[in-house]
Parts: sequence; structure tokens; C-alpha cells
Amino acid sequence: YQAKRDRTGVEVYESKRDSNTPDRLGLLGDLRRALDAQEVQLHYQPKVRFDGQVAGLEALVRWVHPERGKVPPDEFIAIAESSGLMPHLTEYVLETALGQVAKWRAQGLRVPVAVNVSPRDVHTPGFAGSVAARLARHGVPAGALQLEITEHVLLEDPQRAADTLAGLTGHGVKMSLDDFGTGYSSLVHLRRLPVSELKIDRSFVARLAVDTEDAEIVRCTVDLAHSLGLLVVAEGVEDDETWERLRDLGCDAVQGWLVAAAMPPEEATAWLLARGSRGWQRPPAALPAAE
Ligand code: C2E
Ligand code: MG
Ligand code: MG
Ligand code: MG
Repeated sequence: YQAKRDRTGVEVYESKRDSNTPDRLGLLGDLRRALDAQEVQLHYQPKVRFDGQVAGLEALVRWVHPERGKVPPDEFIAIAESSGLMPHLTEYVLETALGQVAKWRAQGLRVPVAVNVSPRDVHTPGFAGSVAARLARHGVPAGALQLEITEHVLLEDPQRAADTLAGLTGHGVKMSLDDFGTGYSSLVHLRRLPVSELKIDRSFVARLAVDTEDAEIVRCTVDLAHSLGLLVVAEGVEDDETWERLRDLGCDAVQGWLVAAAMPPEEATAWLLARGSRGWQRPPAALPAAE
């Protein structure tokens, strides 16, 4: 789990995937049951702009195993991906997230929600159509849904992936490129993917305030994204100094524990209601002292 967070961690992740250890098979069976029993939950983490406006919330899946306790998403998502359970998990996540968007809209909270989708989903035949049908069923406009993808969608059958993504954006769904900087970060990919937002991976953001190389990488990424007309979101913002650096570098929005961690639905609703039209504000104690 920790290894995947490293910039070079992709190999670790891939090799872990193939090992069908009894433990993984056990977890897989449990995950299948957990989905049927609706034991899997979504938490929501805000994305806020520098003026405090809430740009949206990202749905992040949470699973509390009856015996093992919390299972990290990275771990069970890898299992779902390698086992064929991924489409089922994604259906569950989309269904739950759209139900929540509809509830919020009924309360006057018109905030878009982002759902993470795996390459497997994008390669599932009929995916774009099924998303559109689900939106219609919930009475949610496509603009209220964002899908977060990674460059990995282009590794296998890039033409089919591009067609599916074009289908989704054709329906009005917004696409966001997640974990930018950790994969190939290829300019060809960036041009080929119909995304309107780019998310800079936490591994570059974490040490931004102390590491000049990371700061340069972030600066170049922001400039590149803006020159392509994309919005830039920084993930994993934990402190004021990083927040200020990102604002100065021209980043558009941030996500991270400084603002809020992913919250269960009731807490996210309270968070949204408390901010109202005022938006998020940094706690006064965190502001620099007046001269
Ligand atoms: P991600 O989409 O890049 O999500 C960001 C991760 O960073 C989340 O971890 C989030 O809880 C965590 N995070 C947010 N702010 C901070 C911060 O300030 N500091 C630190 N240290 N961490 C922060 P999480 O929830 O464990 O999810 C891990 C990954 O699992 C996600 O990365 C995403 O790739 C995947 N994932 C989560 N939910 C879903 C889902 O419903 N479907 C799919 N396909 N993947 C999902
Ligand atoms: Mg994400
Ligand atoms: Mg990410
Ligand atoms: Mg990430």
C-alpha cells in the first residue's frame, strides 16, 4: 500500500496484482459479499478553489471488514481489478454517488461529484451508455458528474478507450486526469484524453514547500495544463504553506486534509451546509499574524 505511493511504485503494484494468494482470494469473496450487503460506503472529500468556493466533492470508497477492520482502497481495488469484480464495484459507486448528488440537489446543494473509474471500466463495452442511463434514472444532469481517470486507460487498446471517453464527454460528463506525474505523464496522452481537469499527484505536492525540484515540477505542470486550457487541482494539501505556494503558482483548486478529509455522507452534508455560499475559509488561527 505504501509502496504504491512512491513515484517508482508502479511495479510493486503490478506484481502484487498477479499473486492469487489465499489471502487475496479470501478478501475477494468478502468484497463480493460486502457489495451485496451494502457494507461498502462512500466518503466525500471537497475540492475547493482559492476563493473558498467548493468546486466539487470526490467520492472515495470505504470498506470496513467485519474482522480485519478498514481495508485500504488501493488494496481492494487492485483485487477487484484483477478479478473481474471492478465493473460491479464501479456500478455500486456510481449508483451510490448519483443517489447522493440527487439528495443534495433536492436540498438545494448543487455541487458536482467526482467518481474514480479504473481502466477496466473504461474498457467495459457499453460503459458510456450505462453512465448516461444512470444519470437519467437519477434525474442528475451530466455536468454534475465528473469521472477521474488515470493515464493507464490508454495502455491497452487506446482507440477503444478514446472512443468511450469521447462518448462520455459527448453526454456532457466531465473528465479529470488523476495522479498526474506518477505514470508516463506523456504529452501524447494529455492531448489524446478529453479531460478538462488535471490533478497533480500528492507525491509532488507533499514536499512542495521544502523541495525546490518538486516545486519546479508543480510549476511546469500548472503552466502546461493552463496552456492546454485545463483546470489544475492539487491533491494532498496538508498545510498552509503548501496552500500558499500552490496559490502563488496559479493552481486552481486544492484537495487535502487542510480543507477536509473524506467525510461520511451526513458529515459532508453538514460541511456543505455550514459553508453555504460563503465557501471554505482557512481557520483564522492559520492566517499569518497582522504586521
Ligand atoms: P485518489 O483518487 O488519488 O484519491 C486521493 C487519496 O488521497 C485518497 O486516498 C484520499 O483519502 C487521500 N488523501 C486526500 N487528502 C489527503 C491528504 O491531505 N493527505 C494524505 N496523506 N492523503 C490524502 P484513499 O481514499 O485511500 O484512496 C486511494 C485511491 O484508491 C484513490 O486515489 C483512488 O485511486 C482509489 N479509489 C478510491 N475510491 C475509489 C473508487 O470508488 N473507485 C476506484 N476505481 N478507485 C477508487
Ligand atoms: Mg481520485
Ligand atoms: Mg489522485
Ligand atoms: Mg493519488
